Amino acid sequence: MFKIGCHLSASKGFTAMGKEALKLEANTFQFFTRNPRGSKAKAIDEKDVEKFLQLAKDHDFPVILAHAPYTLNACSKDERTREFALETMADDLIRMEYVPGNLYNFHPGSHVGQGVETGITQIAAQLNTVLKPEQTTTVLLETMAGKGTEIGRTFEELREILDRVALNDKMGVCLDTCHVYDGGYDIVNDLDGVLTEFDRIIGLSRLKAIHLNDSMNPIGSHKDRHQKIGQGSLGLEAITRIINHPALRDLPFYLETPNDLPGYGEEIALLKRQRQE
Ligand code: FE
Ligand code: FE
Ligand code: ZN
Repeated sequence: MFKIGCHLSASKGFTAMGKEALKLEANTFQFFTRNPRGSKAKAIDEKDVEKFLQLAKDHDFPVILAHAPYTLNACSKDERTREFALETMADDLIRMEYVPGNLYNFHPGSHVGQGVETGITQIAAQLNTVLKPEQTTTVLLETMAGKGTEIGRTFEELREILDRVALNDKMGVCLDTCHVYDGGYDIVNDLDGVLTEFDRIIGLSRLKAIHLNDSMNPIGSHKDRHQKIGQGSLGLEAITRIINHPALRDLPFYLETPNDLPGYGEEIALLKRQRQE
């Protein structure tokens, strides 16, 4: 099954997102657990969740992917910001259990001058506090573009975080195609080589989801500017190889391209045409 969806607004709840995904002929979606800038999460509407779970079952939805707010920074220099990250992730993971067995993705964080080592220590400490043996959610580290002092641009940094987390069987990685290309990994000319390296350093069994984005910038630019599919430096050919690659094709793919809903619908249709069954 080709698992394909896009980022949707969570403001009207799970059932509304499920219906929206169906309209776009998607079978999964990503959403923010709360306003991307942070703030309080809306209370869980259990009726809505119940309806969504039925819809997901009726329409064969595979996993869905929740995204933590961008403001979550587990390795901020500011203690209050680190506390906010901890409280937010802990609360998000409790809420995720209403839709059990899904994925929760977050940006490892920006060390803001503290250095990579301190950053990784703080991120791992947060994960060691919030992860629970009984949780059914898999927490994903997103591969980052390396903008500013972002941690997670290299596979080695992600591996280092995983190594320091006791319950790392609850963890995986979400590969963002725009970010890794921006980070210097040549997925256009050497997808096999990059995946071999990923496998050697992290292990492909850790890879749980793909953020499928084109990029506005050339390889290694560390800019993190997403582009529509086929209109950026990755191009449609490279993206077609990604969605069909034997190591990736069974993973869920999520579009985070600069699009409105009809635009996402067109990209999903385009990708379905490019998919080799
Ligand atoms: Fe992200
Ligand atoms: Fe992403
Ligand atoms: Zn991005």
